Amino acid sequence: MNKEEIWQAALGNLGVILSEANFSTWFKDTFIIEMGENTVLVGVPSGFAKEWLEDKYLKEIKESLAKITEKEREVIFKITSIKPPSLIKETKDNEKTAVADLESETVKTLNQRYTFNNFVVGNSNRLAFAAAQAVAEKPGQAHNPLFIYGGVGLGKTHLAQAIGHKIHLFLPKLKILYVSAELFTNEFVQSISQGKMNEFKKNYRDIDVLLVDDIQFLSQKEGTQQEFFHTFNTLHQKNRQIVMTADRLPKAIPALEERLSSRFGMGMVADIQPPNLEMRVAILRNKCEELDKVIPEEVLDFVAQNVQKNIRDLEGALTRLIAHCELNQQDFSVEVAKGALENILTTTVTKNLSVEKVIKMVCQFFNLPEKDALNTRRHKEIVYPRQIIMYLLREELGLSYPSIGRVLGGKDHTTIMHGCHKIEKEKNKNEKTASEITSLKEQLYQSF
Ligand code: ADP
Ligand code: MG
Repeated sequence: MNKEEIWQAALGNLGVILSEANFSTWFKDTFIIEMGENTVLVGVPSGFAKEWLEDKYLKEIKESLAKITEKEREVIFKITSIKPPSLIKETKDNEKTAVADLESETVKTLNQRYTFNNFVVGNSNRLAFAAAQAVAEKPGQAHNPLFIYGGVGLGKTHLAQAIGHKIHLFLPKLKILYVSAELFTNEFVQSISQGKMNEFKKNYRDIDVLLVDDIQFLSQKEGTQQEFFHTFNTLHQKNRQIVMTADRLPKAIPALEERLSSRFGMGMVADIQPPNLEMRVAILRNKCEELDKVIPEEVLDFVAQNVQKNIRDLEGALTRLIAHCELNQQDFSVEVAKGALENILTTTVTKNLSVEKVIKMVCQFFNLPEKDALNTRRHKEIVYPRQIIMYLLREELGLSYPSIGRVLGGKDHTTIMHGCHKIEKEKNKNEKTASEITSLKEQLYQSF
C-alpha cells in the first residue's frame, strides 16, 4: 500500500466512529506527508484542524494506522497549505496519455515536464493556478485573455504549458500553440524579409489556443506590437483562448502601446509570488518523489531555508545535492548539504535567519523601539508591526504559533494565529501591506 492508500484506509476506519459532519470538517484535505519507521507525518490545512485532531482523535488515528500497517507509530500533524496528492493528481493518468501523444502537431511546442499534475499549489500561486485550471477546462470562456505575471523562475512557463497539455487532453482537436514572445518576434521579422507575411498571418490567426510566454519582450518593438495587436484581436473576436505571461503587470511594461496593455488586462490578471518556506519544502518533497529519492525532512528544510528566491534555483540546489551525494557515495545530511551547496548558498548557510533579526528589522522599518514589540501593551501603533513580525516568523522561519507566542513575550497562540491570518488577508487586499512585506523580506535576505 502506498501512503495515499494507507491514509484512505485509516480514514475509512475512522468514518465508522465519527459523524459525517465532523468527519468532513476535520479530515478534509488531510494526507500523509511522510511515513517513517516510527512516526507518521500528517499534513492538515489549518491550525484549528491540527489542534482539534490532536485533542480529540489522536488515539483513534494512531490505532487505526497501527492496525493497517501492523506497526505502532507516533502521529505528528503538520500544517500545510499544500493540497493532498489525490487532489493534485486527479488527472495524472490522463495527463500521461497526453504526454505520450506529444508527437501530435498541435502540442509539439510543449515541454512534457510542465503539467498541472506536478505543479505544487500554495498561497503564492493559488490564484494563478485556479485561473489556469479554469481556462484549461473552458478555453475561450472562463477568462480571456489570461495574463499571468511574476518574477523569474516562479512557474509562469510551467503554468502556461500546463494549460496547453490539459486542453489537448480534453479537446484534442483544438490547435494549440505555445510560443515565446521572442520567437513570435523573430518569425515576424523573418516573414517580412522573406515576403511571407500571409503565411505568418494565417499561421497565427488560425489557432484555437495561443500561449505567449514572456510578453514583456515586445517592449519597444513597435512593428511586432502592431502585428500582435491584430493577431490578438482576430483571435479574441473568434473567442479563441489567449494566455500570456510576463514578468510584470501589463501597464508596467515599458514602451508597450496603451491599446495593447489595456487589452492584456481586460480578462483575468493573476500574479505568482515567491513561495514561502513551507511551500518551498513541499516543492522539494514533490521533486524528490518525482526523482524517486528519499531525502530526510531536515535536509529538505535546510535547502528550503537557504534558497529563497525562486523555484528554479531551488530545483537547481536539489539536483546539485543529489549529484554530489551520488558522486561521492554519501548519505543525505545537513552537513553534506552545506558542503555540496557551499557555492550557491552565497549567504545564509552559516547565519540563518534569526528571530532577533526579524524583530529588529521590522521595528527599524516602522521606526519603533524593539522592546515595544515584546511587551504586551496594545498601543495602536504597535499592533500592526507586531502582527507583521508574527507573520514573518511564521512564513519565513516556519515557527509554530505557540513558539511565536513565547518569543513575543508570552502571548496566547490564538492571538498569534489571529495576527498571522490578519496580515495574510491584508496582504491580499491592501497594496501597501503587500509592498511592505515584500521590502521587508528583501531586507531580511539582503542583510547577510
Ligand atoms: P518562469 O517561467 O516563471 O521563469 P518556470 O515556469 O520556468 O518559471 O519555472 C521554473 C522551474 O520551477 C521549472 O522547472 C518549473 O517546473 C518549476 N516550478 C515552478 N513553479 C512550480 C510549482 N508550483 N511546483 C513545482 N514546480 C514548479
Ligand atoms: Mg518562463
